[in-house]
Amino acid sequence: MLIELPPLPYEKNALEPHISTETVEYHYGKHHQGYVTKLKKLIEATKLKDETLINIIKKTDNQNIYNNAAQVFNHTFYWNCMTPDHHKPEGAIEMLIKKHFGSFETFKEKFIQAAGTLFGSGWVWLVQDKKGNLHIKQTRNAHCPIKDNETPLLVCDVWEHAYYIDYRNRRKEYVEKWWNVINWKFVGEQVKT
Ligand code: FE
Repeated sequence: MLIELPPLPYEKNALEPHISTETVEYHYGKHHQGYVTKLKKLIEATKLKDETLINIIKKTDNQNIYNNAAQVFNHTFYWNCMTPDHHKPEGAIEMLIKKHFGSFETFKEKFIQAAGTLFGSGWVWLVQDKKGNLHIKQTRNAHCPIKDNETPLLVCDVWEHAYYIDYRNRRKEYVEKWWNVINWKFVGEQVKT
């Protein structure tokens, strides 16, 4: 069995004051852990049991397995997209954002707008398509861009469980504060050249 809950890349209080310790405790310790536990149970008696998470996402046509596998991936990716050691984007990722969105400010505005306009639960991504172009993409519920053969670069979780403890129903404020903890080094490392 290759599926496990990966350790958080920082302490649970490291994203304060933007993301509280309590939010991380619930989001990582209950929600993310819950998807891992459910996925392990769903695949234990199937031929997917020794597959990697990416392969499970790509191969399965079982909606329940897909949803849980995608949520495990999406959450791990989300934690990796954040850091208490925040710096501005540099190098290739900075140039690509300017090339595809005109300016970093325009990109930020469009990303926050996409987070605000996604109806219901889901995720907002920066993805790179096969031609190397960057797009802001909204996905509903658990859906993961890997299934669409796109490369995820950045993700924000906009399920209510990601922000309700800290921001109640104020999703836009959450995404604006989340912006202060984006790990641009990690995002840059995802770019395919
Ligand atoms: Fe979540």
